[in-house]
Amino acid sequence: MSAESPGQKQGFKSKFSNALRPKKSRQVLRKGSRSTTEVPLPPGPDLNKPLPDPAPLQAHRLKYKQMHSQVDTQLGERRDYTTMIHSLGLLDPMDNSGPVEEDNENREPGEGDIAKLPRRLWAYIAWFLSPADAASLSLASITLYRRLGFNYFMVLDHPANYDYKMDFLAGIDRDLPRHLLCFPCGRYHRRTQEGTERLKPSHVINPLFNCPNAQNMLNPPPRHRITHGRTLPFSFVQLAMRAHRFGPHYGISVDSLARRWQRDDWSHSSRYLVHDGRLLMRVTSQTFAPAGLPPSSQRLLLHSREDYWPFFSACAHWRDGELMPACKCALNHIPKARDNGGLQAVEHKVKDRWAGRQHDPNALTTLCGFCRPMRRCPECPSEYLIEVKLTEDRSDPRNLQFRQAIVVTRWTDLGDGTTPNTIEWGAVNGQRDDYDSFQHYEKRAIASIFEAAFTADALPGQRIISMNPKQKKQGEKGHDWY
Ligand SMILES: [Zn+2]
Ligand SMILES: [Zn+2]
Ligand SMILES: [Zn+2]
Repeated sequence: MSAESPGQKQGFKSKFSNALRPKKSRQVLRKGSRSTTEVPLPPGPDLNKPLPDPAPLQAHRLKYKQMHSQVDTQLGERRDYTTMIHSLGLLDPMDNSGPVEEDNENREPGEGDIAKLPRRLWAYIAWFLSPADAASLSLASITLYRRLGFNYFMVLDHPANYDYKMDFLAGIDRDLPRHLLCFPCGRYHRRTQEGTERLKPSHVINPLFNCPNAQNMLNPPPRHRITHGRTLPFSFVQLAMRAHRFGPHYGISVDSLARRWQRDDWSHSSRYLVHDGRLLMRVTSQTFAPAGLPPSSQRLLLHSREDYWPFFSACAHWRDGELMPACKCALNHIPKARDNGGLQAVEHKVKDRWAGRQHDPNALTTLCGFCRPMRRCPECPSEYLIEVKLTEDRSDPRNLQFRQAIVVTRWTDLGDGTTPNTIEWGAVNGQRDDYDSFQHYEKRAIASIFEAAFTADALPGQRIISMNPKQKKQGEKGHDWY
């Protein structure tokens, strides 16, 4: 940690010293301490004076903030339950200052109380905490450091406690805007492209800091595969989430991660959104698909020869379940263009007229009950929608025409960007199997959260079914994925 980041202890200091300060309600029972009865009640409104005219909600908030001080002098609790419930509804959702970070100058410093407790008791308290939390407690104030000592930092440095060390280091992120936590090294590096970091294709060397492990193939930095040749390094998730959490100079904007690219006749576009403190990603991939493809051509259209992964964006569990069969089913619905000459065409026309219908190869393709519903991977926060859409083919500018294209959209949740240990990041990369997406996204789909943020009209009501309803996990040994 360099001289550019002198305040790294302040975040923890305030966090813990605030948390450890005695409650107001207990202060009144102590002899000689400041009691809440001494806090004067705010003066009542002067009825003779014409009141200024604040915005109605703001005025309402001010009024109920004043009522905060009407507390029971003995218990420190609010006497009016209606006020309490009412004020809950008036909490400003944009107000990020939680009770821990609230700075109240009337509070007495808690250092004396910390010092009163014997060293053994503090060690006992730390024993209940994880190694990361124990080290954070030790770092919170000089008194606590004297009580707890340096041992907790030594414990963190043990290779077996690597994940705890990362959790601890991620906790001091706020104090290091010009650095970025490197996971292969387990330390902060100075950002070398501060503020100008740009997401690039995976074959472009794009170091964000000077790292001794940069060339170490055995210890690669965490990244998420988007499609062929495109990955999202975890560093970019960190940068986007830091900027969102703490301010623009901590990273880059979420919008700057969006990209459009083409490869192997597929065109892709990606977009990102922060929702509920986590980074969501949408990748839309499409390619023109001729009608009546035999199974072998369908495979060629969907899978790469390089590694047999699908060309569109897929999570680590794409081989299991019905994602690929649903894609092939959708391809089968593309209407066939008919011969325009010969007896057969006349026969078709007569048949069409007899049935009272008109043949139109550009008609909207209707998918069936198997391939139309949105699919959700049960093991990670990924949702897929398969569509067949008429799309303008611009490959020949002199002859613009509409052709049917298969469009596969994937929405996913990449976690909060603190460490790669988050359950979402682990699940989406197939590194853990304790994630249940139907439990985490029980009420609302990732897709509808995402689309509602960008368009006024939300996604048409789609049924969401499991991508792997039978929960069979065969991976490459399965029969349906290719
Ligand atoms: Zn490094
Ligand atoms: Zn179908
Ligand atoms: Zn998955």
